[in-house]
Amino acid sequence: MLHLLDLSPEALGQWLADRGQPAYRAVQLRQWVLARRATAFAGMTNLPQRLRDELASQLTIWTTRVVVHRHAADGTEKLLLELADQNRIECVLIRENERRTICISTQVGCAMGCVFCASGLDGVVRNLTTGEIVEQMLRLQHLLPADERLTNIVVMGMGEPLANLAALLPALDVATDPAGLGISARRITISTVGLPPAIDRLTDAGCQYHLAVSLHAPDDALRSELVPVSRKIPLIDVLAAADRYFAANHRRLTFEYVLLGGLNDSREQAERLAELLARRTALLNVIPYNPVAGLQYRTPSAKAQERFVRVLTDAGVNVQVRTRKGDEIDAACGQLRRLSLDATAAAGQVTVQTTG
Ligand code: SAH
Repeated sequence: MLHLLDLSPEALGQWLADRGQPAYRAVQLRQWVLARRATAFAGMTNLPQRLRDELASQLTIWTTRVVVHRHAADGTEKLLLELADQNRIECVLIRENERRTICISTQVGCAMGCVFCASGLDGVVRNLTTGEIVEQMLRLQHLLPADERLTNIVVMGMGEPLANLAALLPALDVATDPAGLGISARRITISTVGLPPAIDRLTDAGCQYHLAVSLHAPDDALRSELVPVSRKIPLIDVLAAADRYFAANHRRLTFEYVLLGGLNDSREQAERLAELLARRTALLNVIPYNPVAGLQYRTPSAKAQERFVRVLTDAGVNVQVRTRKGDEIDAACGQLRRLSLDATAAAGQVTVQTTG
């Protein structure tokens, strides 16, 4: 079976043309799946019955199944999806005023090895396909009532997005396509550990997405410890690549900084970070460490967080402290999958849990 969501509009058009179908069938089909939230070919009433039967026998819309669906009191919902090969990934819907933001994954696991992150603790298993990335968007879209739309996407789930650009960019084409999900590129953020050649690919491709670059340390020595992949990538190269992206499309850059008590939250470190960022049109997103089971890092106290932020704002840096969403449902990347890896060995079956 082919995964419908893996087919580009052109490939779908070709598939239909091979069966003697006119080009507008591809438009109808995409409209059913992407806009009208159809879950099966059978109900696509403006397609000939024979075509519906043929589609159903050769193409599948869904390759994942929902293993866990959690709701938090703040409106956040999280899905743990099982892929066709039994691997599991996470995606999240965040409700904030009028915004309906989804957080999606690009890989099973992650190879970057950031020491405080649950996603990479067991390394990377594989890249997701375009279809698997689009499927997360649709699964989350289906959680919304019919009169609500997805408004924003953050590619901040499991995995390093820039290590899987070949699958991600076509998936984001579906998201931005007015005939797809119709989400403006300016409302899509790609978060990266900071891989300069891949950032340059985004620049060269003329991408209009927001870029968020994970720094986590103001100097190479500490960054190499916290973000092992950066041992071979000096901060200055990461910043230069980010600057080229900014020069090309003028999207304000975001830098992310996980605040780890006693490790990267001192006044001196804030001052050095301010020096790095002061001359850039950038937002610094400070993320207080979200505890991961089995890891010994500390979330700094509110006072320590404030002190860190004040040094930066006094130096003219634009800072935002990321508020936590869906805390009680393990909404931080990779946590739910890890819990399920531990638990499913014993329990094995579908669990639908509701908290809050
Ligand atoms: N691979 C991408 C996306 C990671 S998730 C990247 O490195 O940017 C988005 C952000 O959450 C990253 O900045 C990541 O470092 C951060 N993060 C990961 N684990 C965290 C934790 N336990 N607490 C707080 N932030 C975390």
